[in-house]
Amino acid sequence: MAENEVWIFAEQEDGVLNSVALELTGKARQLADELRTKVGAVLLGYHCEALAKELAAHGADTIYLADHPALRYYRTLPYARVICDLVREHRPQIVIYGATVVGRDLAPRIASELWTGLTADCTDLQIGDYDDPFTSRHHDQILYQIRPAFGGNVIATIVGPNHRPQMATVREGVMKLTPADNHRPFQTIPVTPRITDAEEVVEIIERHRTEREVDLRKAQIIVSGGAGVGSKEGFDLLRELANVLGGAVGASRAAVDAGYISKAHQVGQTGTTVRPRLYIACGISGAVQHRAGMQESSKIIAINTNPDAPILSMAHYAIIGDLNQVIPMMIRAYRGH
Ligand SMILES: Cc1cc2nc3c(=O)[nH]c(=O)nc-3n(C[C@H](O)[C@H](O)[C@H](O)COP(=O)(O)OP(=O)(O)OC[C@H]3O[C@@H](n4cnc5c(N)ncnc54)[C@H](O)[C@@H]3O)c2cc1C
Repeated sequence: MAENEVWIFAEQEDGVLNSVALELTGKARQLADELRTKVGAVLLGYHCEALAKELAAHGADTIYLADHPALRYYRTLPYARVICDLVREHRPQIVIYGATVVGRDLAPRIASELWTGLTADCTDLQIGDYDDPFTSRHHDQILYQIRPAFGGNVIATIVGPNHRPQMATVREGVMKLTPADNHRPFQTIPVTPRITDAEEVVEIIERHRTEREVDLRKAQIIVSGGAGVGSKEGFDLLRELANVLGGAVGASRAAVDAGYISKAHQVGQTGTTVRPRLYIACGISGAVQHRAGMQESSKIIAINTNPDAPILSMAHYAIIGDLNQVIPMMIRAYRGH
């Protein structure tokens, strides 16, 4: 038994790891180094043992592999059963999950069964000490679970000093993917799942997959539009610029809510977190919830008619003007005529 490790839930589907699993492995490595402990990755599925090497390359020391036909596709009860049993046996101090559809379903169930806390959608995780003002107890090296609260107006640091494991979810794209080292040594611990009829109450009869309409996380250039675009047709101009630059089209929530473009394109706190090389914000005011999803972009160009729009003060290049005039000029300039 290896107590006090830092664990991540290695979400996979059809033998492919979700990118957030690798991002979290890198973060767990950093936390574990600070805590002088090991990183464990919990990998559940069927015929998925080949993924262990990928997790190790990103920082995992131990892969807890539960390979079983009942775990082929995600189902809440069998997955929760296996992870709860593993946590009880090995007693990690921290478990992190991706804030994906699966992670958001699984982590709360585990937290409730293990009687521990869970902080959703963390934007940072750090290790630090904590003096509890209620019990006057000092806690060494616990997990700071950091996330925006109250609509992004405060950044809250949440701690769970009295229960283990400390658990958090983190959205895709928030933690940086660390480079892979394919020569890192690792150990795989096979796990025999203890799944009873009680966990098998849901049967998967058919599966339908819808491919992502757009994968903003992978785009190096994003041309994003807000309420200022004014209409669904207005987005054609942004698509044209994105095509010329070889980029993807993003949007603010106001543009999505107005029906100009689908939710898959939304950037921000409740959309996708992106960090492209170039982010062009067109007719977006720069509300804190939007900025939360794009402020890590390497270069930001903002086009806005209002010189006081908050987005302009965070942009590397601020263009004060009407997007309907500025974007065609940019397209012409990039095309060279
Ligand atoms: C819990 C919560 C979560 C949220 N999550 C998100 C999120 O994930 N993503 C997100 O984006 N928002 C999110 N929001 C909404 C956010 O608070 C803002 O309402 C939203 O970002 C505003 O979008 P916008 O900038 O497009 O619209 P507006 O704030 O209306 O800004 C439009 C801008 O366009 C400019 N403009 C108008 N016409 C033109 C023109 N012709 N040329 C150039 N500029 C022009 C205007 O000057 C203005 O600055 C969230 C809100 C809450 C409460």
